[in-house]
Amino acid sequence: MNYTGRFAPSPSGPLHLGSLAAALASWLDARAHAGRWLLRIEDVDTPRTVAGAADTIMEQLRALGLHWDGDIMWQSQRGKAYQHAFDALAGQGLVYGCGCTRREIADSSLRGAGLAADGERPYPGTCRHGLPAGRQARAWRLRVPEGVETFTDRWLGPQQQDVAQAVGDFVLRRADGLWAYQLAVVVDDAEQSITDIVRGADLLSSTARQRVLARLLGATPPRVMHVPLIADPATGLKLSKQNGAAPLDTARPMAMLAQAWRALDFAPCPADTPAAFLAEATARWAARFHIKAR
Ligand code: GLU
Repeated sequence: MNYTGRFAPSPSGPLHLGSLAAALASWLDARAHAGRWLLRIEDVDTPRTVAGAADTIMEQLRALGLHWDGDIMWQSQRGKAYQHAFDALAGQGLVYGCGCTRREIADSSLRGAGLAADGERPYPGTCRHGLPAGRQARAWRLRVPEGVETFTDRWLGPQQQDVAQAVGDFVLRRADGLWAYQLAVVVDDAEQSITDIVRGADLLSSTARQRVLARLLGATPPRVMHVPLIADPATGLKLSKQNGAAPLDTARPMAMLAQAWRALDFAPCPADTPAAFLAEATARWAARFHIKAR
């Protein structure tokens, strides 16, 4: 079996302990499978991109010994591919223009199904059968097929979501003209022949959407593993750039790796260098997940 994994940070700030746990898990899983590990900079959301953050992330990964294979993919250079995928979906009648504002969606779904798993309100389908008179398309949405999406997460076990009901027709191209994360990530995972996604549990709620989209685009959805998020001991909130998590202290690489490793629920793995730590951690990861590299 060929294994290709990836780490796909958004360059909205430096990596913190939470993002390191995801990067480490993804790196270890790829190495335990004797697979490839690619780096993709998810700078599709240009207003959230911070100048210099991508370089910082690369330096942080190198300092911790998390070396990647091949060339980096930059989402900001992938507009043609996203357009192509969008056109393919539109050609199947699966895309429609939506004139609703956020406010209108919030108001109309108060009467409907409540909050989706990620706290977003399901889109109530207002524009599905055509824009109301006098309205112009702002965003472009996928006509989500009916049915329950089921998959097995390698960390969390069996999962299911009725995307049409829980999320509704989701956005492919945003009102500000930018490509949506869901479309970009699926197109890029297919382009890079990603077989396995290992990432933080905050993205579990996006997985069913991405599987639906992958199949509509003729791609095979990758296997997934969603690893635990790390909470800030002071606030109990998950570590995130939005919550002001501290950047990794790359002057103390062993301490950073040890903390991320513990967050992944492993017993300490003493070592003197990142390379020695990673070799031992790869063996332990392979043993826990019954991975036999060829
Ligand atoms: N760019 C996303 C993030 O930093 C991750 C996307 C993914 O792994 O699918 O949260």
